[in-house]
Amino acid sequence: MIEKVLIANRGEIALRIHRACKEMGLATVVVHSEADRDAMAVRLADESVCIGPAPSSESYLKKSRILAAAEITNADAIHPGYGFLSENAQFAEMVEAHGLIFIGPKAEHIRTMGDKIAAKQAMIDAGVPCVPGSDGGVGSISEAKKIAKKIGYPVLVKAAAGGGGRGMKVAQTEKDLENAVRTAKTEAKAAFGDDAVYLEKYLGKPRHIEIQVIADSHGNVAHLWERDCSLQRRHQKVFEEAPSPALNQAQREEIGTIVARAVAKIGYLGAGTMEFLYEDGNFYFIEMNTRLQVEHPVTEMITGIDLVREQIRIADGKKLSFSQEDVMLVGHAIECRINAEHPETFVPSPGMITEFHAPGGPDVRVDSAAYAGYRIPPNYDSMIGKLIVHGRTRNECIMRLRRALDEMVVGGVNTTLPLHQRLVDAKDVVDGNYNIHWLEKFLAKG
Ligand code: ADP
Repeated sequence: MIEKVLIANRGEIALRIHRACKEMGLATVVVHSEADRDAMAVRLADESVCIGPAPSSESYLKKSRILAAAEITNADAIHPGYGFLSENAQFAEMVEAHGLIFIGPKAEHIRTMGDKIAAKQAMIDAGVPCVPGSDGGVGSISEAKKIAKKIGYPVLVKAAAGGGGRGMKVAQTEKDLENAVRTAKTEAKAAFGDDAVYLEKYLGKPRHIEIQVIADSHGNVAHLWERDCSLQRRHQKVFEEAPSPALNQAQREEIGTIVARAVAKIGYLGAGTMEFLYEDGNFYFIEMNTRLQVEHPVTEMITGIDLVREQIRIADGKKLSFSQEDVMLVGHAIECRINAEHPETFVPSPGMITEFHAPGGPDVRVDSAAYAGYRIPPNYDSMIGKLIVHGRTRNECIMRLRRALDEMVVGGVNTTLPLHQRLVDAKDVVDGNYNIHWLEKFLAKG
């Protein structure tokens, strides 16, 4: 029985998990670095433990310190959030070896999906359509050239251990390939300590559409429709919506069913997301994320399901609180990621938030750990919160988002709020007419 949850994360997601725990009557422990002493989750949690200095390598990534914190506070389970140790199979194993519950998938699935070459193979075996590419890693440059010729240029060189858009290089023609492979390998080695790379057909105008799935330990699996995360900068999501304006109900049911079947086949446990590129009516699997995602609230808004609550219930051995037939799709939801960055140059802007006003009113949700007087430390990523709105129709949602963005005030630091204000006014965004390259082009126009 889970009675006390240790939250091994920071920022808005630590607060999000704390909120789910409190609504379930569970006690919370938040671990934090020295830089996060004044964090909102630390203030609200029942207990908090400082696990080290500011650099995440000395705190949020220190497995032994997090386990020690769980031991001294008598926590029953650990929720890793996203980022940090959330997709670290060894950490999941260590948690269990210490007699604690890991609120997440099984280590074997984290491991398989963490290696994108293995993940693609597993998905091909489970009947999921993938981007055409090398079957496995590429060794020599001459081998890469041979495979690329077969796939057809342009090709994308991707790191097997990749994440956050790192270790990814496009080769337009054969003469770029050698350089693309070398730089992708160097970047991957530096970022992930693993220089294995593979090739994929580079799609020219796809949308990024991902399917949320969830499975319990009793054999129940459900998909919760899709999220469209095509508005990206440097392969990082900026603005997400559900449902996707590009799909009709028959298409979303079809891909949802394929994903749910694949997840059941591999015996997956907990929440996960299968990411696809979608072009000319076809879906191509790119990777699976074995954790809660930043953009999970848009799914919660259209389905009414609390994904964190379900994750905790599943980890506690309980059944999903709903079946596939119960999953509703009501209206439309959009999320804006608000970063403390200059809205044009994207230079990070840490420092003191002097003023903070969150918008309110019907169907407006702000997931943020920021408050007036809070100092954003320079040590972590720059996302300071998410604004999520819901409407009965996509149009109502956009009108409400525009209104909510106008109400929101964050003073003292630069934020990307003005970028979002430009986005909700852009005709292509209003029309739902964009792909993964749209935002970069929009920004280049200035
Ligand atoms: P990461 O794990 O680093 O986020 P992904 O495989 O999820 O890498 O890809 C991130 C983004 O990169 C995608 O959302 C898409 O915008 C782009 N991308 C990935 N694969 C391809 C491809 N084969 N063709 C075109 N764009 C791609």
